[in-house]
Amino acid sequence: MASLILKSGREKSLLRRHPWVFSGALDILNGNPQSGATVDVRAADGLFLARAAYSPSSQIRARVWSFDPDEAIDADFFRRRISAALARRTIFFPSPHLPAKNGGTEGGVTDAFRIIHAESDGLPGLVVDRYGDVLVMQILTAGCEFWRETLADLLLEATGASAIYERSDADVRELEGLQPRVGLLRGALPDTRLTINEYGLKFLVDIEHGHKTGFYLDQRANRNRVGQLAAGRDVLNCFCYTGGFSIHAARGGAKSVVSVDTSADALAVGQENATLNGIQPDGLEWLEADVFTGLRKFRDQNRSWDLIVLDPPKFAPTASQAEKAARGYKDINRLAFKLLRPGGILATFSCSGGIDAALFQKIVASAALDAGVDAQIVETLTQGPDHPVSIHFPEGAYLKGLVCVKS
Ligand code: SAH
Repeated sequence: MASLILKSGREKSLLRRHPWVFSGALDILNGNPQSGATVDVRAADGLFLARAAYSPSSQIRARVWSFDPDEAIDADFFRRRISAALARRTIFFPSPHLPAKNGGTEGGVTDAFRIIHAESDGLPGLVVDRYGDVLVMQILTAGCEFWRETLADLLLEATGASAIYERSDADVRELEGLQPRVGLLRGALPDTRLTINEYGLKFLVDIEHGHKTGFYLDQRANRNRVGQLAAGRDVLNCFCYTGGFSIHAARGGAKSVVSVDTSADALAVGQENATLNGIQPDGLEWLEADVFTGLRKFRDQNRSWDLIVLDPPKFAPTASQAEKAARGYKDINRLAFKLLRPGGILATFSCSGGIDAALFQKIVASAALDAGVDAQIVETLTQGPDHPVSIHFPEGAYLKGLVCVKS
């Protein structure tokens, strides 16, 4: 087997079980591994550190499969990892081993959840979301690309899914030297549009054209939380996508809900979702607009709200973009604080890996300061339990949310 020998002193992060080997830590490459092939990673003195997937064009030159020198990387290895990931889900969700029935209103919180969350489930570069009995698989790294067919077979075997659809079209694939790939990988898609259940609400999910794998599953519990806070309030949902927070708020008894997004397609699905859940359209306003300019317009029109949700896309995928991203977060949070009535609630989120929880809180604090308002943080929110964080991989904790009450 090919091997990577690290520079002296560069073994520390692997000894702490962090799964990434950066190109700068490499001293010698023995052999000629193809992209995604398995290599042994050794310290300068020859000590075995890990068995990893080689990625020749990425800054992250290798990603660890196993720290066990006796563990072979083969189909059985992946079978074990998938089975462990599914076992973790059974604590919170209906059995991932059983296909959902008819759109999945069979009880439980939902029939749509992430079953594999990449590094945090010991499978760097693999994301698999389950929507009813359809799986959507996203391959982000050379290592998973190498094992793609095996992974598809094993996922089918482990879940009994009726279909696996591939959505390997995330930009990060470029860094791995991989082309985008989208399409049906196993089984057959249902004839009707996919509908999922979330806390008793129904949502349409377009796994072929929707964002990410079709739905923002990581915000499930936070949508429910906002729904619980919405009774009797006028609600503004910024970056609404297909209306997740809006529909929860409406069900929770919101007086009115304004939903803003730049995507006309997402807004159209949002309106369908409202109908699907029997929500009367009179209290709902759907606005195709850029949030940065939309919030300024609302300010100029003297509009105000009792509950505002800010759930923007990733402004800073990595720490290098943090400064520009911070200006974006501060801008929308400042405007939102101004548009809130006294006693109003701001539920504000960041899914940027490049901005940690402490920095996000500082940004929101300085936004309040600039808006000239005082506020209390009453709750902190994060990603759901189907998006676990490996204890050795803090980067896995990417979703941060603050619920603030304006004084
Ligand atoms: N809250 C949603 C997910 C939001 S994802 C949910 O729970 O499902 C971010 C959304 O922001 C996407 O729908 C995207 O179309 C939208 N978006 C991105 N930039 C935007 C901008 N500048 N103004 C308005 N919407 C924007």
